[in-house]
Amino acid sequence: MMQRWVVERSRLSLISLLSVLLPALSLSAAVSATTQSDLTAAGQPPLKWYAETQSIMGTRVHVEIQHEDEAYAAVTVATVMAEMHRIDHAFSPYKETSEISLVNREAGAGWVEISDEMVALLQKSAEISNLTSGAFDITYASVGRYYDYREGKAPDENSIRAAIHAIDYRHVELEPNRVRFKHPLVSIDFGGIAKGYAVDRGIEILLARGVVQGSVSAGGDSRILGDRAGKPWTVGVQHPRDSNKMAVLLPLVDTAVSTSGDYERYFEQDGVRYHHILDPSTGRSAAGAWSVTVLGEHAMITDGLATSVFVLGPEKGMALINRLSAVDAIIIDPNGRMTYSDDLSGL
Ligand code: ADP
Ligand code: MG
Repeated sequence: MMQRWVVERSRLSLISLLSVLLPALSLSAAVSATTQSDLTAAGQPPLKWYAETQSIMGTRVHVEIQHEDEAYAAVTVATVMAEMHRIDHAFSPYKETSEISLVNREAGAGWVEISDEMVALLQKSAEISNLTSGAFDITYASVGRYYDYREGKAPDENSIRAAIHAIDYRHVELEPNRVRFKHPLVSIDFGGIAKGYAVDRGIEILLARGVVQGSVSAGGDSRILGDRAGKPWTVGVQHPRDSNKMAVLLPLVDTAVSTSGDYERYFEQDGVRYHHILDPSTGRSAAGAWSVTVLGEHAMITDGLATSVFVLGPEKGMALINRLSAVDAIIIDPNGRMTYSDDLSGL
């Protein structure tokens, strides 16, 4: 894939793009503020934009598209939102009636029949686990389910020791239409890819309905379709220790971007920050970074890789990104130092 995220390939533009600090947008990777219309070249009528924001999957979902017909645009955006709700209902481990809750209840005891969509998500998860040597692992939830970030609760050493052996993506045995866990205490959670997946599904809906300019975002996962009235979209990466600031502004065209940060869901106890990205080898929060932003073609991949690189830490994480084609990363390490993957720093 062509690299389309840095539009002006000069050193000057890189410096001005990557080191600006701007007043906050409220999202960790917020798409530039909506305007009702953008002026096109002189003499042409302004383009019409349609935008909507909803709370879905425990986060802010924002869809913004350009279309001449407002009624058509409204139906299109509603279709994307409905798809997000559907994905939430099927794959939220917090909903007892979801397919993933059924699997978590029964797959430890034997085979469970599952949907094609569940099979595809399990396959993709296994691929990302293999690619990242297990830094990404949906069975992290075997321990992860004992954390409650809102209540400020973390499992004690004994509870971790009792469940840590259930964390291993190779415990998930998949056949074309069924799954089982090879360890009775396994629990899975698609939290590391679900938002990216939902964003990709949203973009597919836009494409199928003939939209050529738009964006879909769910919390820290966004994907941009086309440009914005001839100019790139601007996606900001939040400063990980000052929510009023942006650490980076990225000009993007036809790109997915995901940010994983230790500031999204966390509590502090005795000077330790307990946050929602867990190192599968310890069952504890990974400490290798403040935030990781990954750019690529599909949001499910950038989402999964951002979580993975966070676990791997700056050194191993950046080495992985530089080995892969068509993905880039910006890592802010625990000293607040920002590093870029080769394709971004070589500009
Ligand atoms: P968010 O966009 O929800 O802030 P991320 O994309 O950074 O978060 O992913 C964090 C989520 O991924 C966690 O809330 C959890 O559901 C899941 N997760 C945490 N650790 C791992 C891991 N090592 N592998 C896979 N998924 C994980
Ligand atoms: Mg992620």
